[in-house]
Amino acid sequence: MKITVDEEKCCAAGQCVLAAPEVFDQRDDDGVVILLDEAPPESEHENARTAAQLCPAAAIAVEE
Ligand code: SF4
Repeated sequence: MKITVDEEKCCAAGQCVLAAPEVFDQRDDDGVVILLDEAPPESEHENARTAAQLCPAAAIAVEE
């Protein structure tokens, strides 16, 4: 799995961090997403997919 994020699209909603805290974080100053792990282990795949689905800005792309 390979994950990419588009910081330009991110509206700092934080859904990704709630869904997959091992994979995503948010910048302290403006809340924009930080990708912690662009190639997460199998155990995080479901959470990462959920995060991509929940993101209101469609800022997360997941390649299987
Ligand atoms: S859910 Fe989407 S818009 Fe919200 S912080 Fe994460 S990447 Fe940004």
